[in-house]
Amino acid sequence: MINITSLAHIYEQGRRIAFPDWEIADMEHWLLLGASGSGKSTLLNIIAGLLKPSQGQVFIHDTNLYTLPARRMDQFRGKNIGIVFQRPHLIQSLNVLDNLELAAVMAGVPIDSEHNLALLNDLGIADKAQNYPAQLSQGQLQRVSVARALVNKPDLLIADEPTSSLDDVNAAQVTEMLTTQARANGASLVIATHDQRVCKYITKTYLL
Ligand code: ADP
Ligand code: MG
Repeated sequence: MINITSLAHIYEQGRRIAFPDWEIADMEHWLLLGASGSGKSTLLNIIAGLLKPSQGQVFIHDTNLYTLPARRMDQFRGKNIGIVFQRPHLIQSLNVLDNLELAAVMAGVPIDSEHNLALLNDLGIADKAQNYPAQLSQGQLQRVSVARALVNKPDLLIADEPTSSLDDVNAAQVTEMLTTQARANGASLVIATHDQRVCKYITKTYLL
């Protein structure tokens, strides 16, 4: 379902980063491995439609991502791709449920309150629905990020070093949540990490 071919990126005044071709089938789980600075975040941003590569193509289903006009790209991303960043990016002035609903609104997708509550329930934070981000712990915030990434039932769930600021217990829980939720939602999963604690959950690896 996802194909990258002949992909490379050069930041202004940076070196050229070349990415081996990669095919991610429906519902597959992959680890994106590589040393710090090897280009993991760059590749995830390219796959997510957030960074236009200097060279090469990204296909998601039959859509050649970087041929879409900007607005279509934003909608396409919102509908098809869920992203969990290293640190949660939540709107501080909105409560947890409103943060989830905003993700739907931004993508032009109808709000599905039942689905959103079910996600919070699955992730063990249903009781935090009305709380604000500042009232949550690091681990709880990361769960909200996972829930928000799944709001629009994406085909692809991407996580960039989701465990790096978590202790062992929370790291294990978040990794398990990502794999379980990807499976439950029928999504493919890519986790970028250099965290050995994540590696035991996923066998397919793409190395930079
Ligand atoms: P990783 O996520 O594996 O640590 P990154 O994709 O963040 O790697 O970075 C890959 C390389 O690109 C690094 O050398 C980094 O310094 C450089 N880089 C990342 N982002 C930018 C940017 N916005 N501008 C210039 N260089 C960047
Ligand atoms: Mg990175």
